[in-house]
Amino acid sequence: MTVAFISHSDCGRHDTGWGAPEHVGRLRAITRAFRERPELFMRLLHHEGRHAEPEELALVHDPGYIARIQEISRSGGGRLDPDTVASEGSWLAATAAAGCVLDAVDMSFDGRAVRSFSAVRPPGHHAIRDSAMGFCLFGNVALAAHYARRTHRADRVLIVDWDVHHGNGTQALVENDPGIHFVSMHQWPWYPGTGAAEDRGPHGTVWNVPMPAGLPAEQYVSAFLGAVDAATKDWTPDLVVVSAGYDSLAGDPLGGFTLEMEDVDRLTHEMVSRAESWCRGRLVAALEGGYVPERLAEACIVTMKALGPSD
Ligand SMILES: [Zn+2]
Repeated sequence: MTVAFISHSDCGRHDTGWGAPEHVGRLRAITRAFRERPELFMRLLHHEGRHAEPEELALVHDPGYIARIQEISRSGGGRLDPDTVASEGSWLAATAAAGCVLDAVDMSFDGRAVRSFSAVRPPGHHAIRDSAMGFCLFGNVALAAHYARRTHRADRVLIVDWDVHHGNGTQALVENDPGIHFVSMHQWPWYPGTGAAEDRGPHGTVWNVPMPAGLPAEQYVSAFLGAVDAATKDWTPDLVVVSAGYDSLAGDPLGGFTLEMEDVDRLTHEMVSRAESWCRGRLVAALEGGYVPERLAEACIVTMKALGPSD
């Protein structure tokens, strides 16, 4: 059973400027953390992802919006929303981020790497059909789910999102497809303000788990897993996609959850064992938030370890 670490050097080309919480140092911290874990590094398949094509991005985004991101990057960059900027390199970064996750889906289905972690930026779960939002340009994870449906004939895809913020973009991009179930646990009330428990989407295929800040970590873990079990009752996914946001860790400047590394380990193991019973273990994890680079990197390492065979 092979686990892949998927990345692309172009993800570093999205320049958000001095002082932005979402910066390239987040990815560099992961590379540094690997240096202390040569045994894990050796065990993983390293894969440089591809760039998503505009036609692929159009599975979830408006073609005019896609062209606009390309054009803004070509002309040197600009502000896309109050929190989100594009730089000259953002087109290459954002298409690489999306392309890595598409490769992850291909590798999961063709068996090159049944499970993988894509260390990508910009993140994706706030981006909507025709707009960037909350540091996100393209909906990487929603795109992966639709791509799996289209290209690999997946009947059912489960997306779970443990980032501290509601995956509003993911929800908007998948809630009309009953073949995709979406679980998001997030701080409430908090940015972006969406994700009430009553908001189940038009087909009842969305499980939002709004939670107050500062609870004991175990309560987040059990609430999350409870929602995962509700979302998969009499419904067996062909693929699990994880929006792996690590701003849900204790001490993150953009969130008030209290998760520690042992909780990340538990969440990952629980999802892996479910994926084993549902779909031969197929699981694609992609980085979302997480704004203390060292903690984020440590959590990525913990996740990758837990994705591996349990020997
Ligand atoms: Zn977040």
